[in-house]
Amino acid sequence: MDKQRKLIIAGNWKMNKTVPDAVELASQLQTDLGKVTELDVVVCPPFTALSEVSRVLRASTMRVGAQNMSEHPYGAFTGEIAAGMLKDLLVRYVILGHSERRQFQNETDALVNAKMKAALAAGLKPIVCVGETFSQREAGQTEQIVGDQLTGSLAGLDAEPMQESILAYEPVWAIGTGRTATPEQAQQVHAFIRGWLSRRFDDTTARRVRIQYGGSVKPGNARELMGQPDIDGALVGGASLDAHTFIEIVRNSL
Ligand code: PEP
Repeated sequence: MDKQRKLIIAGNWKMNKTVPDAVELASQLQTDLGKVTELDVVVCPPFTALSEVSRVLRASTMRVGAQNMSEHPYGAFTGEIAAGMLKDLLVRYVILGHSERRQFQNETDALVNAKMKAALAAGLKPIVCVGETFSQREAGQTEQIVGDQLTGSLAGLDAEPMQESILAYEPVWAIGTGRTATPEQAQQVHAFIRGWLSRRFDDTTARRVRIQYGGSVKPGNARELMGQPDIDGALVGGASLDAHTFIEIVRNSL
């Protein structure tokens, strides 16, 4: 199998963990995963804990990501956080277009696209999420929906910044539901995304971009999912909130 891409496992803590709880979790992870180099390990705490988690992980190989950011560099945007502010906190990655933000904050592909460009301009690596709902899958629209999301979210992007970016295929029906896509179902969509990248950019870009799978990833299904030729890591929600479980996911992916 020609998988030369380094796996990337990221934990999305969502709106969980006070600062002391986040520090405790980061410290536990650091003890076990702080020297891992075979794959990239990233944690994405809420904004309030980014500074402290960055401090805990500073001397480790682990990296810190944010869960969202503004498309603007600064200004009168009450309650927003700019990419430059994240860089101040040693944040390297930012999740964009998560389905919860698309659903609850009405984020569109155009907004995700603007945020992605702002993230790249600031030197952050975007993790751009795409995925279909259950009814869209049932209606046979998965590739249409995912293709449209990619077209909108990656509009105007050149191959080079694309290669710095990460995509996450997250079927909405598998997020937080305990229903994981089968490795075959996930691989099918990942292969579609890689083909899409090849057509939209070029073969080199398609070969280089890492595509994570997200949706009820657990220690028990991580190995088989990561074994698929076009799955290059995982975006883990619920199972990233417990140190032991997240460590097992990373270990089972090695
Ligand atoms: C997510 O929120 O990105 C996610 C994949 O959640 P979970 O692992 O809980 O399904």
